[in-house]
Amino acid sequence: MMTTAELDRLNQQFERQSPKNILRWALDTYGESLAIVTSFQPSGMVILHLLSELKARPTVFTVDTGLLFPETYALMDEVEARFNLNLVRVRTGLSVAQQAQQFGDALWERDSGQCCQIRKVAPLDDALHGYGAWVTGLRRDQPGRASTPVIQWDKKHDMLKLSPLAMWDESAVWAHIHGYELPYNALHDRGYASIGCRPEVCTAPTSVGGDSRSGRWVNSAKTECGIHLSA
Ligand code: SF4
Repeated sequence: MMTTAELDRLNQQFERQSPKNILRWALDTYGESLAIVTSFQPSGMVILHLLSELKARPTVFTVDTGLLFPETYALMDEVEARFNLNLVRVRTGLSVAQQAQQFGDALWERDSGQCCQIRKVAPLDDALHGYGAWVTGLRRDQPGRASTPVIQWDKKHDMLKLSPLAMWDESAVWAHIHGYELPYNALHDRGYASIGCRPEVCTAPTSVGGDSRSGRWVNSAKTECGIHLSA
C-alpha cells in the first residue's frame, strides 16, 4: 500500500506528464499485475491506443452484462483484433433469463442498483482480485468526477487506481480519436454521449443541454453503476 505522501508526490509528478508516460510508469511498476478496465467508450479508446503504441499487452477487462448494444459488441470485436488485445470479458454467472426468474422481469426498471451490482460491480470485483493496480478512463470534466486524482489508493479493491486521462476533457479525447482515426461506438453519432446497457432506462440519447452522462439511468437519481463509487 502506498502512503498518502507517496501518492501526493506521484500526483504532483503526473499532473505534468502525458497519459502515455503515466501508462508507461504503470506498466514498468506493476507489470503483469496491472489491469486495464474499459467499456470501450471514447476515453477507453485513447487508453487502448496508447497501450498499443507502447507495445504493451496488459490484461484488459470489460464487463459484459449480456445487455450491451450490438454496436458495443461489434466495437469490442473490432478493437480486440486491431490492437491484439489481451481482452477478458467479465460476466456474472447469472444469465439475464435466470435473473428474471430470480428477481422478476426487467430488474433494471425497478432496482437498477441491484441489477448493476449483480451484472457489473460484483463480477468486476472478482476479476480484479489479486491485481496490484487498475487503469480507468475517468476524467475530471465528467459530471461528479471533478476531483478525480491521477493516482489514488482504492480501498475497496485494496489496490492502486490510475486515471491517466483525468486532466483531459472531452474535446481532447475526440481530437485524439479523430487524429489517429481510431474506431469508436457508432451510437455516439446518434446522440448517445455515454453508453451502457441497452434498456432505455439505462442508456438514452443525451438530452439537449444535458451533461455528457444525462442519458444514463434517466428515471432515477443514479449517476454511476457503482464500479467507481468506493475507491
Ligand atoms: S446499466 Fe442497467 S441493465 Fe446494465 S447492469 Fe446496470 S441496471 Fe442492469
